[in-house]
Amino acid sequence: MRHALLIIAAIFLTAIPLRAWGWVEERQLGPYLIRAEFPLRDSQNLVDELADLQTDIERQLKLKCEPAEIQIHLFRSRWSYTDYLSKRIPEGTKRQALFVQGTDASRVYAYRHSGLETDVRHETTHALLHSALPFVPLWLDEGLAEYFEVSPGMREKHNPHRRELQWAIRLGWRPAIERLEAKHELLEMEKNDYRDAWGVLHFVLHGPPAAREALADYFAEVQSGKPPAPLSKHLRRKIPNLEQRIIEHLK
Ligand SMILES: [Zn+2]
Repeated sequence: MRHALLIIAAIFLTAIPLRAWGWVEERQLGPYLIRAEFPLRDSQNLVDELADLQTDIERQLKLKCEPAEIQIHLFRSRWSYTDYLSKRIPEGTKRQALFVQGTDASRVYAYRHSGLETDVRHETTHALLHSALPFVPLWLDEGLAEYFEVSPGMREKHNPHRRELQWAIRLGWRPAIERLEAKHELLEMEKNDYRDAWGVLHFVLHGPPAAREALADYFAEVQSGKPPAPLSKHLRRKIPNLEQRIIEHLK
């Protein structure tokens, strides 16, 4: 829900020269150029984990990320974040954090608060996914960003979505992958859609091997340049009673 992929905004970014901003620190780290309004030693954990995020994504998804530059902008406060964006990407100011895909670089914007690390991992996951695939369907993009946004030790068993879904299952929740696949605009994604997308992808990544094979087949189709069959089709081809299997996996 934090994410906004704003391709149009990239045009403005190149059109408006950036005036000097009061960055306290600027650091190049692999593909990342991190600019912060506060000393990065305050976020050393985040910086260390960012270095591993690409490896984690590549290993878990069997993809090769090929990022050009990913600029990560870290603001000291929501006020400062809004101030910066309002002059450059005004439509992004309502969001808690932002990913913008540009032609020259990808850009991530986030501000310091208790969820900063989560926000940066979430948005940077978008940037890395888009460097590995020619396109990423919205629900898959968000579901994977939700998956990778928690710190590595929490991803399989301790994402808060797990407990949310366990409750929802008691109340009769069923996954609706085709409904998620039909969403193409960020505004169509409701709060629970992020949770549901996470749930389906947790099954894909940690459920039966056939589910991971379906994901691999799907990614191969996406990379082939031909219009791919949706992931749901690949999953249904390999896994009978898909909904029930997802529920049993998440329970
Ligand atoms: Zn997102």
